[in-house]
Amino acid sequence: MQAGRLIVLTGPSGVGKGTLLRLLLNKHPELYLSISMTTRQPRPGEVDGKDYYFVSRDQFEQLVAAKELLEWAEYAGNYYGTPSLPVQQQIQNGHLVILEIEVFGVRQIHKTFPNVLRIFIEPPSFAALEQRIRSRGQDNSEAIAQRLQTAQGELEAADEFDVRIVNDDLEQALLDIENAIFCLDNLPV
Ligand code: ADP
Ligand code: 5GP
Repeated sequence: MQAGRLIVLTGPSGVGKGTLLRLLLNKHPELYLSISMTTRQPRPGEVDGKDYYFVSRDQFEQLVAAKELLEWAEYAGNYYGTPSLPVQQQIQNGHLVILEIEVFGVRQIHKTFPNVLRIFIEPPSFAALEQRIRSRGQDNSEAIAQRLQTAQGELEAADEFDVRIVNDDLEQALLDIENAIFCLDNLPV
C-alpha cells in the first residue's frame, strides 16, 4: 500500500481556514482531518470531539508528559496540540492527513515529517482579516486584539511555507488548495 502524506494548513486566525476546510472535506471525504486538543473554551456551536477535544490544562500537560502529542503550542493564552496516534495510523493506512495548526506547530511537524506539504493561507489585506475576525462575532475584544497581534508575526512567517494561497475569492482559494494537494509536483519528497 502507498504511504499516506501529511498536509498542514496554516494562516492567521480569521483568514478562513475553517471555512475552506469544510468545503474541501465536503468535496473530498477521503481526506482525514486531524482533530486537535485545546484548553480554549468552546465557542458557541462547537462540539467536543468534532471541532476539538476540549481539555483542562492539567489534562493537556499530562498528554505532553506522556508524549501523546505530535506537536503542541500555546496560542493566545491557550494550549493546542495534535494527538499523535490517529495521525500515525491514518498515514500508515495510506491516507492524506490534514492538520490545521499554527506556525510553531508547523515547525515542529516539519522536523518529524520533512516531506510534509505546508500550505499558508493569507488574507487579501490586514484590514480584511480584522473585518473577518470581527464579523465572525465569536471572540471577545481581548481575544480579537490578541489574535490580530499574533497575526502580524504569522504573516511574516509566510515565506517558510511550500505554497501560499490568498483567500480573497473563496472558490478560487479552494481550487488553489485542491491544486496544491492533488498536484503531485507540489509534494516535496
Ligand atoms: P479561521 O478558521 O481561519 O479562523 P474562519 O473560517 O472562521 O477563519 O473565517 C472567519 C470569517 O471569515 C468567517 O465569518 C467566514 O465566513 C469569513 N470568510 C472566510 N473566507 C472568506 C472570503 N474568502 N471572503 C470573505 N469572508 C470570508
Ligand atoms: P482557534 O482558537 O481560532 O480555533 O485556533 C487558534 C489557532 O490555533 C489557529 O491558528 C489554529 O490553526 C491553531 N491550532 C488549532 N489546533 C492546533 C494544534 O493542534 N496545534 C497547533 N500548534 N495549533 C493549533
